[in-house]
Amino acid sequence: MKISFSDNRKIFNVHTDGIPRLSVAMLDELGVPNLYSTRFDSSGATGTEKHDPADGGRGLRVVIMKDEDPEEAAPAVLEDRDRLAHFLGSSIEHECITDQKHTANVAVVHPEDLGPVWPLEKPDHLRNVDGIVTDIPEALLTVFGADCPPVYLADPVRHAVGLVHAGWRGTFERIPAVAIGLMKERFGCDPKDIYAAVGPGICRDCYEMGDEVYEAFAGKWGTKDADRIFERYPAFAPDGSEIPGGKYHLDLFEANHMTLIREGVSEDHIALSNVCTRCNADIFYSYRAHRMENEQAAMIVNRFL
Ligand SMILES: [Zn+2]
Repeated sequence: MKISFSDNRKIFNVHTDGIPRLSVAMLDELGVPNLYSTRFDSSGATGTEKHDPADGGRGLRVVIMKDEDPEEAAPAVLEDRDRLAHFLGSSIEHECITDQKHTANVAVVHPEDLGPVWPLEKPDHLRNVDGIVTDIPEALLTVFGADCPPVYLADPVRHAVGLVHAGWRGTFERIPAVAIGLMKERFGCDPKDIYAAVGPGICRDCYEMGDEVYEAFAGKWGTKDADRIFERYPAFAPDGSEIPGGKYHLDLFEANHMTLIREGVSEDHIALSNVCTRCNADIFYSYRAHRMENEQAAMIVNRFL
């Protein structure tokens, strides 16, 4: 598994035993079990561009896709997630997920939310939600992404964790701040104690955006901050002609970094991804690369050394 990193920082540990996966080195040092999956299953097979049950090498399958019968697809998907959870000393019986609708809504996990309920009836407080926080010992939080980075949060003082799905909409609405706000309010966390990691996702070079997205950020975040996270790149129309002035590209890693700093997380408690899912589309499912529906799982367990 040859991952191309954008720089030499040691942000992730790479694990090739069993199911290939990454983990955040900073969280590993705290003893907080965490991972980010890849396309590879334990046999080394990678997922195909469009999932076909007839293909032999099915790769890792952590989500049910839109064209699948949920009842039929669920057992294999839950089994893959359970296998991943085992690398964290956990199991799917401790897992909580959300429906991920590109919102900035974050929910507090209830004890009865844990376990493989999906795709069965989900409680209302986990609908239309893109982030979860918990202080329940051993709870396993999972979010999915195939270009949208996850943001992992861990407070070793209050023994609480959070995990959010931060695509551009969640990033724009500052979903990590919503999660940190809930951790403060419900678990008494101090942001200075929180460790935060922005996981793998699409890099700025790969992430072309329409001008309206820049305008939205400039309106909500101010032009100074928008200019820190957007840059114009040369761009070409489908007929090959150069677009005058180029197109904006967005840096989701830096945007979430700015939100974390704004919320009071210390710079030395933040790890920023140097792995792009699209630059490494042979290793990760990337929506922009393949328009694939399959995704990676990001997982964190509420356990500390
Ligand atoms: Zn990239």
